[in-house]
Amino acid sequence: MIAKTLPLVQLSPANPPSHAEGPADCSEHSAVKRDWQTQLRQAIRDPHQLCQRLGLDAKALGVEQGHRLFSTLVPEALLSRIRPGQPGDPILRQILPVAEENDEVLGFVEDPLLEQTANPLPGLVHKYRSRVLLIGAGACAVNCRYCFRRHFPYADNRLSREHITQVMAYLNAHPDVNEVILSGGDPLATPDQRLLGLIEQLTGGSHLKRLRIHSRLPVVIPDRVTDALCDGLAATALQAVMVLHINHPQEIDDAVIEACRRLRQAGVTLLNQTVLLKGINDQADVLAELSEQLFAAGIMPYYLHAFDPVAGAAHFAVPDTRMQQLYGELLAILPGFLVPRPVREVPDRPGKTPMAPPEAWALS
Ligand SMILES: *Cc1c(COP(=O)(O)O)cnc(C)c1O
Ligand code: SF4
Repeated sequence: MIAKTLPLVQLSPANPPSHAEGPADCSEHSAVKRDWQTQLRQAIRDPHQLCQRLGLDAKALGVEQGHRLFSTLVPEALLSRIRPGQPGDPILRQILPVAEENDEVLGFVEDPLLEQTANPLPGLVHKYRSRVLLIGAGACAVNCRYCFRRHFPYADNRLSREHITQVMAYLNAHPDVNEVILSGGDPLATPDQRLLGLIEQLTGGSHLKRLRIHSRLPVVIPDRVTDALCDGLAATALQAVMVLHINHPQEIDDAVIEACRRLRQAGVTLLNQTVLLKGINDQADVLAELSEQLFAAGIMPYYLHAFDPVAGAAHFAVPDTRMQQLYGELLAILPGFLVPRPVREVPDRPGKTPMAPPEAWALS
């Protein structure tokens, strides 16, 4: 149970209103630290502004074309980790819209995981026996260009109070389900009061053991890890697991490390999933360094996902043979517990499908 007396986060403006226009950067001059919601509201949504801030040529990159398909969204806290003037920066490439997103490539489709067919209730995806996924919010704090849900019909999947009642009835009718996964969008884009209310509802009178939150917010806006969130997660009767989504060691800065420390202090088990992305993390040394830095921050590597063939992101695809080869290299470089499980999601399978090491691995 969540204590009713939790100090819920105050949604007062922590910062004097700033001007949405122009590249003016108030962050360095502001004496008051901006709360995460203000940071989210003030995130960059104009691809030209993004390029201007980073000294990049918007026209040459074709940002407008990509932006029209899937809008630009980058919070300042993430922008601060991107090196200016470098079109190949591994964080930049994850968030910068580009012309290639217009390419139609055979086999790259809108709903690669057929999730829209395992959607028995609005906001609920039930594909695997013991766990259901709740689409906890319609938005993210960053728009990742490779996102396999870039075409997901979020508008049809909002979790209202009435939906939660239906979800509870569904859980009661499915005793095999012992874990609820809050996914998204990003479930932590929901204000604490609402999120903790939802968690409280889920806890009450159900047979659930675990609550899992899949989120990129503590990575892209570390201030999202508020006292109220930590207190709420510490107080729940469910075991709390958070699966972060970090693709490159450059994403882990001091603020992320501190946010993770606070979550762990609240008793949250931290895992990480990575998507294998061409030109971003498809090198064994990068993945090994990522695992090392994750562990140093108290996060266990969990999955290395084969990229899902979503329309508009074919330029990120890494061939399976290359992924197998990288897996073999990681097994040779890292202790076993730091090797993420390489998996792919295949529609209609009872869980994620593990990938085998390469044939030649034993001989290398
Ligand atoms: C990945 C996924 C899960 C969680 O699977 P785990 O292997 O337990 O991490 C649950 N439901 C859906 C629909 C998923 O895609
Ligand atoms: S944070 Fe996750 S769900 Fe949101 S755009 Fe990125 S990959 Fe997709």
